[in-house]
Amino acid sequence: MSGESACCGEAKWVRAADLGHAEGIECTLGQCAACGRYSVHLWTPHAPAGSYVALDELVARDLAAIPAGPARKQRLRDLLDL
Ligand SMILES: [Zn+2]
Repeated sequence: MSGESACCGEAKWVRAADLGHAEGIECTLGQCAACGRYSVHLWTPHAPAGSYVALDELVARDLAAIPAGPARKQRLRDLLDL
């Protein structure tokens, strides 16, 4: 995604919440330790390095507030294009 701050990277990414998986892809919410920017780490056991998708803070908080279940999976699919 464009607009990433220079400080945001895998080395500074801190896990905030496990969002479960959708479409076989594990989704873990985290924040940049330097600037607090939220992103979701998308990964699978076969590709543990995965990729990161930046999220606005409100979107990230909403997502984390949805209880685990079909509604959250659907939101993950919509948000992350899974
Ligand atoms: Zn950052």
